[in-house]
Amino acid sequence: MRLELLTIGTELLLGHTVDTNSAELGRSLAGAGVQVVRRSTVPDEPEAIRAAADEALRRTRAVLTTGGLGPTADDITKRVIADLFSRPMVYHPEIWESLVERFARFGRVPSEKNRGQAEVPDGATILPNRWGTAPGLWLEGAPGLAILLPGVPSEMRGLLQHEVLPRLVERAGGRVVRSRVLRTTGVPESSLAEAVGEVEQGIAPLSLAYLPGVFGVDLRITAWGLPPEEAEERLAGALELLRSRAGRWIYADDEVDLAAVVLVRARERGLRLATAESCTGGGVGRRLTAIPGSSEVYLGGVIAYDNRAKTELLGVDPSVFNREGAVSEAVARQMAEEVVRRLHADLGVAVTGIAGPGGGSEEKPVGLVHFAIAGRGGTTAWQQVFPGSREEVRARAEQAGLSGLLGRILGMQ
Ligand code: ATP
Ligand code: MG
Repeated sequence: MRLELLTIGTELLLGHTVDTNSAELGRSLAGAGVQVVRRSTVPDEPEAIRAAADEALRRTRAVLTTGGLGPTADDITKRVIADLFSRPMVYHPEIWESLVERFARFGRVPSEKNRGQAEVPDGATILPNRWGTAPGLWLEGAPGLAILLPGVPSEMRGLLQHEVLPRLVERAGGRVVRSRVLRTTGVPESSLAEAVGEVEQGIAPLSLAYLPGVFGVDLRITAWGLPPEEAEERLAGALELLRSRAGRWIYADDEVDLAAVVLVRARERGLRLATAESCTGGGVGRRLTAIPGSSEVYLGGVIAYDNRAKTELLGVDPSVFNREGAVSEAVARQMAEEVVRRLHADLGVAVTGIAGPGGGSEEKPVGLVHFAIAGRGGTTAWQQVFPGSREEVRARAEQAGLSGLLGRILGMQ
């Protein structure tokens, strides 16, 4: 089944509210076998809502809207949709009564303005809203199917999960859209695509998407409109194929952070970790400590930003700054070795680089980052030059530091 999303709200267009409803709807509907083929956003204006809903229904005969159901907006969405379906509004005393009850629980009485909420397009199925006041609506007629949900994300979610998805799954005849993600890092999209090769035909009817970001390239494989068992079986086969071709760069399935993988692998080997960071300002430590249970593995870290701090907190030899510069292999090595010694860690990673936008030179361009890992098995160092803004360089450097750490951990028994 195909469907269009229409989110309604002037605040969405102004950017005051981020349209999280669309993203959540897209994910949940796909999981239920419904393909979202387009989404649009319009202001709280009847003409705009009417035109957008009309176009969506003409294209796909199914539209799901959020917003504009509350009393403040004068219930414009449902009136506009009723009009489009040529249905009169019908007063439902039971909606009014449940509203009175709900208000009574909070010691209040609904105002006459709320009475409009008890009116719904003739023939619409009322989707009870236990999370708020405005019920959702499900309306089928000549133009197709219109599903109307409130804009408040928690109410939208409650209605979606309890009322909308079960009805849609039934309609989709038990077919689902499922996807899985393999996360890679340390490889450019083009090299990854080369290694993966022409798998598209091999995995059809599944599709493969490359999703590059600062942490690496995610591979998303999607099975469209298949029975659940077949979707799972085909996905498992596709994942195996991709692992055989790109396994060396894959660090996780699904939405797992690289820091979590580092912690799991270190814990398995009884290793304790430490960090010494300059240009990432503690970002590697923040990523590690964001994972529950990290205290079993992560001892702590030092943010040594200024040269003096590198000397005082990590014993970096001041003459090295003059000879090699703060962004150098020698400094990275000393930082890593010293943080391991001071914190009694098994492994320590150091990061020092030029995040930009200023501070670069021909010899040491913006984006240059030196890394070192010290501890059991000696010290190793490497350097990388990352593209992008200051924030991107920092994020990429964090990821590369964690990735180096993971590689070192995996190499230890
Ligand atoms: P209610 O029925 O509760 O009065 P409504 O259906 O009229 O709500 P709105 O008034 O449009 O919905 O929005 C209510 C709240 O939900 C606002 O805080 C708004 O910012 C937020 N909201 C609306 N649409 C979205 C969306 N697409 N994504 C995220 N938040 C949204
Ligand atoms: Mg609104």
